[in-house]
Amino acid sequence: MDTDVVVVGAGPVGLLLAGDLCAGGARVTVVERLTTPTTESRASTLHARTMDVLAERDVLGRLGKLPSGGPGHFGGLPLDLTLADPEHRFAGQWKCPQTLLERVLQERAVELGARVRRGVELVALTEQADHVVAETASERGRERITAAYLVGCDGEDSSVRVLAGFDFPGEDATLEMLRADVVGLDIPNRRFERHPKGLATAFRWPDGSTRVMVHVFGATPRPRTPDYPEIVAAWAEVTGEDISGGTPTWLNAFGNTRRQAASYRRGRVLLAGDAAHRQMPVGGQALNLGLQDAAALGGELLAALGGHDRLARYDTTRHAVGARTLTNIQAQALLLLGGPEVEPLRDTFAELMRYDAVRGHLARMISGLDGPPATAEDQGTTRMGKLDGKTALVTGSSRGIGRATAQRLAEEGALVAVHYAANEEAANETVALIEKDGGRAFAVRAELGVPGDVHELFLGLEQGLKERTGDTTLDIVVNNAGEQTAAGLAPEDVTPEQLDRLFAVNAKAPFFIVQRALSLLPDGGRIINISSGLTKFANPEQVAYSMTKGAVEQITLHFARHLAPRGITVNTVAPGITDNGSPVFDIPEAVEAMSQLSAFKRVGKARDVADVVAFLASDDARWVTGSFVDASGGTLLG
Ligand code: NAP
Repeated sequence: MDTDVVVVGAGPVGLLLAGDLCAGGARVTVVERLTTPTTESRASTLHARTMDVLAERDVLGRLGKLPSGGPGHFGGLPLDLTLADPEHRFAGQWKCPQTLLERVLQERAVELGARVRRGVELVALTEQADHVVAETASERGRERITAAYLVGCDGEDSSVRVLAGFDFPGEDATLEMLRADVVGLDIPNRRFERHPKGLATAFRWPDGSTRVMVHVFGATPRPRTPDYPEIVAAWAEVTGEDISGGTPTWLNAFGNTRRQAASYRRGRVLLAGDAAHRQMPVGGQALNLGLQDAAALGGELLAALGGHDRLARYDTTRHAVGARTLTNIQAQALLLLGGPEVEPLRDTFAELMRYDAVRGHLARMISGLDGPPATAEDQGTTRMGKLDGKTALVTGSSRGIGRATAQRLAEEGALVAVHYAANEEAANETVALIEKDGGRAFAVRAELGVPGDVHELFLGLEQGLKERTGDTTLDIVVNNAGEQTAAGLAPEDVTPEQLDRLFAVNAKAPFFIVQRALSLLPDGGRIINISSGLTKFANPEQVAYSMTKGAVEQITLHFARHLAPRGITVNTVAPGITDNGSPVFDIPEAVEAMSQLSAFKRVGKARDVADVVAFLASDDARWVTGSFVDASGGTLLG
């Protein structure tokens, strides 16, 4: 190995990490595309938690006395950040130009032994079982560096993220804010001043130049850096003032983008800072989030180098913190960039922010003082989930019954693979909902019913499990995905193609999923197949669909016998009409008619079914196998 860790990117995040790793005795090489440090100070605000991080590392002393950043804001509504914890030694926010922070962090990293190589670009990345190989290009030509781990701290357009194949789901910006540093202006300072046509901010830097920021309501992102006349025009449109006499020293635009790597770790490659998450730069949270990623990663990487791989914990905790921060940034973006239509929301928010508890809560969230979302580990207690330490696959869990089941199993402590066919956004939403509640999940895509379907599913599943748990044990399989293509067709009208497709998705795929899972299921594993009350309730228009569900029930019967010697239970759950969020459940008359079928005179909720699945997945159901569990609210009572 040439080095222990390659850090890609010599911004504040990479340099803090490099210093921490060297302080722990690791050999570190930092590679940076830029030949000289940047002269731009994009981010300049440090929050209390970050100040703690810097103080603990003796970096704060080197930065000199930092001026207070004054009060903060939440989406443009004034918010005193000292309320996060008035007793905190660094209560509030602090101004520190990014250039200064970078210089000091680089000095520290180099003093501690890091090799910082500038003008060196990462061009390829290969991972082996026990090391990674980074290929770089520079004036000296191409080189290879071998290392135990490689970390991408290379910002929002991260090459590491792309080269290592990290998923980066989310949304691109839909709205744009323009900003510039301008000399020679004499305009009054203002903070998020709202005008009928937009929003304007101006403040004077200590060197006499002025930072202007302007958003024209509804303005969408442009594909290039704005020029000064464009900013002058936007400023005039919003404020009526003419700033054409100034000379810009820096021009930039940003938007309300939100993306987050699906995982911060792929094998021996990790992400930290903006490489892992892209967000609107509001209130300086992005830089603080990134520095806190680095601070958390250093210790875990040193442990991994020492033979204790706890990197899954870095992934879980920082992903959850990132998701939460991105959500609050998105809320702020809505409040800030929304036009007149968000005024009622702003008024309501402003009203809520008169309460101390609300101000304290928001201030803690921004300052990073609310800590990571609580996990059982952090609380030092066991959450007593019935499925703690288990892993589960729920097919078709992007929505409907599958989503509720994934959530329910995660609530009980299982790590859940959220499978979907095409609806990536919905699958990511399921994962986000689980993480918001402190659970663990990841999304896996594979269309079922097409050649190679189950193979594709298991490739993603096994990789996701391996990254998070170190192996591919799969304790629980829920065959839930299903299609109803020929529903509502008279038996006379069903075509062979429709029947083939239904069987391929609803019966063939579950069979081969079970077959393929056999080698991953441990003794005591669980298989739950979702059928339908329609196998016992005649409805001629659903004959084709019901035939496939009849087939699913045969998987239960025969595999229950086959797998009993291993203590694996196999059961069927049969829902009746269940609200899966589809539009028909918004029509009161339709819901009323459907309700009459159940003995309880209501349609089922996805959670009603999910609770039954969770029971069958738990140890409480160890004596139940080969059964047909009616979860139809008594629809089959007749
Ligand atoms: P849903 O809301 O229609 O969601 C279907 C799920 O399955 C989605 O996650 C979808 O993924 C996935 N899926 C569909 N076709 C797929 C394919 N070809 N390959 C891979 N994934 C596919 O479903 P639901 O109503 O909750 O039903 C769940 C299960 O319960 C089904 O087996 C259904 O037959 C059964 N069931 C439902 C009811 C009911 O009233 N809802 C009643 C009895 C039985 P994408 O989001 O990516 O499309």
